[in-house]
Amino acid sequence: MGVALVLRVRGHAPSKVFRSPLRGLACGVYAVPYDDGHCYVGATSQISLSEAPLPRVQAVHDLLTAATEQVSLDFAQAELHKILVGYRPTTMDTFPLLGRTSLDGIWIASGTKRDGFHLSPRSRTSS
Ligand SMILES: Cc1cc2nc3c(=O)[nH]c(=O)nc-3n(C[C@H](O)[C@H](O)[C@H](O)COP(=O)(O)OP(=O)(O)OC[C@H]3O[C@@H](n4cnc5c(N)ncnc54)[C@H](O)[C@@H]3O)c2cc1C
Repeated sequence: MGVALVLRVRGHAPSKVFRSPLRGLACGVYAVPYDDGHCYVGATSQISLSEAPLPRVQAVHDLLTAATEQVSLDFAQAELHKILVGYRPTTMDTFPLLGRTSLDGIWIASGTKRDGFHLSPRSRTSS
């Protein structure tokens, strides 16, 4: 699972996307500027065998600390607009699960962990 934040930055909101180098097996700290001084800040990564729909205080604390130290000191004075929680579905052997199941018409394309967008299937109908 992973936690990300939407902050409203007073002062100097980042004007460009920024991403720090990867930390051990997790993702780096990154900031994506939105409109009106809002900024997406991500992300934590925690391996869990069961679902965890609510963010942990420790995760939010670690992310804010890392983002403030590595991206912008202005994050310390920002407004916490939203806390986002999502999953990075991962298989036990870390290989993705792709293909049809024994149920007719049900396919699986998951287990891609942090590379969800890059490995997401492309529809045949799109050009
Ligand atoms: C904070 C964060 C940042 C990330 N950043 C990046 C990034 O920069 N680049 C990148 O490539 N990837 C990133 N990822 C990873 C990427 O989001 C995931 O790998 C991708 O979303 C996985 O897609 P999925 O379809 O396998 O699972 P999901 O996106 O989790 O989709 C599973 C869906 O199934 C639904 N569902 C669950 N249980 C049931 C049920 N019983 N019945 C019906 N529906 C159900 C859920 O509601 C959900 O909509 C990030 C993930 C997080 C959490």
